[in-house]
Amino acid sequence: MFEGVNASDGIGIGVARVAVEPDLSFTPTTPEDPEAEKARYTEARDRFIASTNKQIERMIANGLEKEAGIMNAHIEFATDDGIIEMVEGSVDGGMCAEQAVADAYDMYYTMFSQMEDELFRERAADVADVKTGLLADLLGQELVDLSSLPENSIVIVHELTPSMTADIDKENVAAIVTETGGRTSHAAIICRALEIPAVLSVPDVTTIIKNGDLCIADGSKGQVIVDPTADELETYRAAAKKLAEDKAALEAFRGVPTKTADGIEKLLVANIGNPNDANGAAEHDAEGVGLFRSEFLFMDATELPSEEEQFAAYQKVALRMKNQPVIIRTLDVGGDKEIPYMDLPKEENPFLGYRAIRYCLNNPEEYKVQLRALLRASAFGDVEIMVPLVTCIDEIRKVKALVEECKKELDERGIKYNPNIKIGTMVETPSAAQIADILAAECDFFSIGTNDLIGYTMCADRGQDKVAYLYNPYQPAVLRSLKRIIEEGNKAGIMVGMCGEAAADPLLIPVLISFGLGEFSVSAPSILRVRRTISSWSKAEADALVEKIMVLKTSNEVKAMLQAAAK
Ligand code: PEP
Ligand code: MG
Repeated sequence: MFEGVNASDGIGIGVARVAVEPDLSFTPTTPEDPEAEKARYTEARDRFIASTNKQIERMIANGLEKEAGIMNAHIEFATDDGIIEMVEGSVDGGMCAEQAVADAYDMYYTMFSQMEDELFRERAADVADVKTGLLADLLGQELVDLSSLPENSIVIVHELTPSMTADIDKENVAAIVTETGGRTSHAAIICRALEIPAVLSVPDVTTIIKNGDLCIADGSKGQVIVDPTADELETYRAAAKKLAEDKAALEAFRGVPTKTADGIEKLLVANIGNPNDANGAAEHDAEGVGLFRSEFLFMDATELPSEEEQFAAYQKVALRMKNQPVIIRTLDVGGDKEIPYMDLPKEENPFLGYRAIRYCLNNPEEYKVQLRALLRASAFGDVEIMVPLVTCIDEIRKVKALVEECKKELDERGIKYNPNIKIGTMVETPSAAQIADILAAECDFFSIGTNDLIGYTMCADRGQDKVAYLYNPYQPAVLRSLKRIIEEGNKAGIMVGMCGEAAADPLLIPVLISFGLGEFSVSAPSILRVRRTISSWSKAEADALVEKIMVLKTSNEVKAMLQAAAK
């Protein structure tokens, strides 16, 4: 059994599909029969084209037309007459197919990567992908295609990136196991949104587990069992059945308002990463969107998304959620969120550096593209703007000034928007927590980002296992901060929500009720469970519990008391 981080609940039982970087090294040989060697190349090409075409069809079926367009370039480079001639000529001259393919594609790669025009330069990456695909086939190496998997696959990868999840074959993935990432990493957040059980940060798992191994992944406990015994299989099958039954029982909380046991109404909304997730939010009975992480739009693109592209994405969410609130966070780039084409400088301390609103305010014209798209979408629903990583009031003032400029520009173009669009702030830095009163006076709402707030308050990286013992919401320092933020927001009469992962923590929910949190923004699959927990606590009961925990001195004591009181 291997231990990792319990990143996404659920039990997956299935067969391992290990997606490793293929080993494309080979020793060049001189083929005895060049005709047979050329036929080998033709067959590899045909297989590559067939599998790429299948991928394109699936992408189009899943609404990923843009990504499908990129795959079309792969077909073009595999069927290019000039390249085919070059490879076949080299084989006729005595080269093996592997060497001939490598040489031809390397030459094209160099040519494209040195071109002036950026669009042509970007095609170098496509050339490299085609070379990898053809070489892997010739060398008999299997490239695991996550978009097309056999039933009940346990996907084993070093790192789960957003682009990998863009077209993952969700129906056939029983669980995901990785070598990197913590509970609040983006990989974890994506797995929870997709409702795929996940165990992250299992050391060396891509070398320990082999393709075809029978595995059990328990995403709730963070355990992976390879080659389970019949007893283990039976136990886990029963546990999986119980989980399915619990899920069915939660259906009683569908379609009912979110209220504490004594009738205090709360807003229960969803965190989403892309416009399609709005469907999941609505299906899980969310009362709106509390955090649309707009950076995923940027991460899944190859260049900055245009105003039209962004508008279409935001409008789609606004329309899908009807008139429910949709809080869209402006670009939160940097830190652990890398966007390759933005070329941010490498930093010693990326979490303390040039990121999020700092980047945006330094690139106002780029930022205004997003603000105009958000304003335009506000004509189609209750779209609200949220600013990430705020540390001082000047940032909010500058954003507001840019929004005003954008409104004028839209007026000149005769385009409609909501002139009273709400502008709020993430409270996810200790500085923002300290000046909550100052921020509350100029913001329309707060949303507490505990993922970062805990990290910055405890000086502990959310993805670093060695300091994981510090990184939790039960730390007295974190609790005091949460209390202060919520109280200051409430005093100013603005809505105070929470969109960090702690909002869905059943142990913390009574504490948040007592502090007076008004909105809980959680991953869509947690909606019904959170509604049930909220409904099981009255304010008086929550207050009595909080009175006891706020005098405790350690996070362990706090957690133990919350566990003992849990319903
Ligand atoms: C947070 O920091 O709590 C948050 C919601 O933002 P992210 O996880 O995207 O940094
Ligand atoms: Mg954050």
